[in-house]
Amino acid sequence: MAIPSPEEYYGFEMGADRKLARWPRIVEYFKILGESSGRIMFQELGKTAEGRPFIAAVLTSEANMAKLEEFRTIQARLADPRRLGEAEAKSLIDRGRAVVMISCSIHATEVGGTQMSSELAYDLVIRDDETTRQILDNVIFILVPSLNPDGLEMVAGWYESTLGTPHEGVGQPFLYHKYVGHDNNRDWFMFTQPESRLTVEKVHNVWHPMIVYDQHQMASDSFRLFLPPYIDPFDQNVDPMLQHETTVLGSEMMHELLSNGKTGITHSIIFDCFSPSRAYQHYHGGVRILSEAASCKIATPIKIKFEEIEAARDGSDPKTPSVAHPLPWRGGEWRLRDIVEYDKLAAIGCLKHAARYRREWVKNFYEISKRAVETRKPYAFIVPAHQSDPVTAYEMLDVLQKGMVEIHRAKAPFEAGGVGYPKGTYVILMAQPYGRYANTLLERQEYPDLRVFPGGPPKPPYDITAHTLPLQMGVACVEVKQPFEADLELVPEVSMPVAVPAGKIRSAGAVSGYSMCNVMNSSFKAINKLQAAGYDIYRHMERTGPPGRDPYGTFYIPYAKGIEEVLEECAHDHGVRVGPVSGDLDGAPVWKLNRSRVAMYVSYLATADEGWTRFIFDDYGIPYASVHDADVCQGGHALRSTYDCLIIPGQGAEQIARGIPEGRLFPQYTGGLGEQGRAAVRDFVEAGGTLITLGPSCEWATVHLGLRLRNVTAGLKSQDYYLPGSLMRVLLDPSHPVAYGMPRETCLLAVQSPAYDVTEGTVVGRYAPTRVPASGWVLGAKYIEDKAVIVDVPLGKGRVILLAPRVQFRAQTRGAYRLLFNSIFLASAEKTRL
Ligand SMILES: [Zn+2]
Repeated sequence: MAIPSPEEYYGFEMGADRKLARWPRIVEYFKILGESSGRIMFQELGKTAEGRPFIAAVLTSEANMAKLEEFRTIQARLADPRRLGEAEAKSLIDRGRAVVMISCSIHATEVGGTQMSSELAYDLVIRDDETTRQILDNVIFILVPSLNPDGLEMVAGWYESTLGTPHEGVGQPFLYHKYVGHDNNRDWFMFTQPESRLTVEKVHNVWHPMIVYDQHQMASDSFRLFLPPYIDPFDQNVDPMLQHETTVLGSEMMHELLSNGKTGITHSIIFDCFSPSRAYQHYHGGVRILSEAASCKIATPIKIKFEEIEAARDGSDPKTPSVAHPLPWRGGEWRLRDIVEYDKLAAIGCLKHAARYRREWVKNFYEISKRAVETRKPYAFIVPAHQSDPVTAYEMLDVLQKGMVEIHRAKAPFEAGGVGYPKGTYVILMAQPYGRYANTLLERQEYPDLRVFPGGPPKPPYDITAHTLPLQMGVACVEVKQPFEADLELVPEVSMPVAVPAGKIRSAGAVSGYSMCNVMNSSFKAINKLQAAGYDIYRHMERTGPPGRDPYGTFYIPYAKGIEEVLEECAHDHGVRVGPVSGDLDGAPVWKLNRSRVAMYVSYLATADEGWTRFIFDDYGIPYASVHDADVCQGGHALRSTYDCLIIPGQGAEQIARGIPEGRLFPQYTGGLGEQGRAAVRDFVEAGGTLITLGPSCEWATVHLGLRLRNVTAGLKSQDYYLPGSLMRVLLDPSHPVAYGMPRETCLLAVQSPAYDVTEGTVVGRYAPTRVPASGWVLGAKYIEDKAVIVDVPLGKGRVILLAPRVQFRAQTRGAYRLLFNSIFLASAEKTRL
């Protein structure tokens, strides 16, 4: 059967002006290739967040294809050298293949990679030249045509609607993923979204690619293409050989482009290698290559004169030749076809290199794995079985296991670092294939103090500088540096802890009600479920347990018909601690929780923070409605009659106030909240509504609602005060309903977050008076010591709750979720007595 070329199949050349291949057609094309050639295997890995097929194609020679399982086994065996003799390892290295994965357009507006993918696959399927042969013989190539198919459909649909209008090719005013938008490449250790989960489970963990190459795009008016080497710093948990291999491979890819006459390519700008959020492979025996091509206007060409070319974000100059950038682009037209060609040459350069140095890649992969299993610095991390929130602790262990980390459990009591631990304690040994991955996720980050010049402003990191999971998630975890003896068993799959055995609630007999602990996140899932089913819920205002454990705000659920069944289900599904209460509660002061009617503000300058918040709400069963500028601008009284609570997700004050500037897009999307929205929000609060602002949006509230708080960080120079994303020690008041169920001291993630001197309002949380930074990079911590970060400010009949740290960041900061959940409950709670 004759295989159609992409041009024949789609009816246009890939990257043709104003044309985008759409996802259903792309899936179909890869299926056709799979059915027509022995060199390509089509795979549907699963479904995307919106239910579209999520696919990959394996490309290799027909001979290799017949032995695919053998090559997969070789990879798996080399990945774990603990049970491998040197002679056998050598034989596996001789027989192995270089495994390369290329993934396209995770950021859906960066359309070039996906548009290129059909052409790359077609060429490898039909060509018989020496280069193609060499690639197919030596490489097992896994091509993921799109890491975000839903996004492609959204972007293409939007783009087509702009064709022929004054705003042709302008980006869409909403996220290009059901939830997480641009942050879909920040999910690669938490795996909350199906696309990241499927790729890791079904490609990374199955194939252990030595090379993972991810194709992106950047601004239009600077360099034409970025390739590694990256800039400093790199995470020291990444094997040095991998660092070096990114440099070698990136340079070779650049060479392929330059020798094919392409210009404007640079390395060593902007992108560092510190955060594991999109570098899974750096901790799993392979390199992660990133390319960033200059964008046009989606598929609409642009024209840039040489004089108009701009410096990159870090000041690098694209107009002057340099070591990193030998051949500047002279300006002119720039179209999607250019991006397709650059991306394709970069991909070919990568595959050629992998083919040529097949044996070195396989051997280094083995050597890296060998060094990993010999690592004993530190020796282990210990996760005590007794946790205040055991379900979140389980989630942390589960996240590590999804990343192939081995977890052990003690079969008997043992001592480590001078401390005794009981049987059942979890132990994560560093001497294992992915020990360094576990180390980076569990340890406290130390980020180097990098400046533009000595004593000058800080060099901004590419992402945040702290990701310590135990601190983000509020899980007790101990690093042990010295070796210790313990009788351990491997836990193949950590299971969810269940505090209340099945049947216990039903057999309790006559009770007046049930009490449910509020120190676990999952209790909030249970409470939302109970509320949705119409059961009454109360929260105790006073302590109901032993002093020191701060059990203010314990949930109380009066007995009602059929409730045993629902509670049994909650105990089973969510692991909550719930128990019967018999006898009289003696008029105890409580909050009656009504179901808060939540409005979530959605800016047309779409923010991933808004999407993450929705994701968490859907996960926890919290109902909400999205409101846009026009909904808010209808007026505060209209808003108040419909909602109890308005949430403004993290976004800068200026962005919220002004939105997309007039003239930049169709008028219904421009202007932001403006003066009308400001007045409406004020009226809403004064009429009894609750405004909850998250992270940077707190500044909008303090400035635009005239709250009597002073942000002490405003006006400080970056060389004096800088907080680019670090975990900070915060002291809370757990007797305040916003902090019910929280510990007195915790760590919260702050990203240039405001910190306040408060004249009016109740301080619920403030930075510790000393030693504020707990993980990550901070300059000038002295300026924020003891300053307020969580504040409940009364305004008219309502209140503004400022949650300045990032309490729901990327669905990672799970130890802080309850601050947000509590605030939502408070919005409609009534004081009463039982
Ligand atoms: Zn990107």
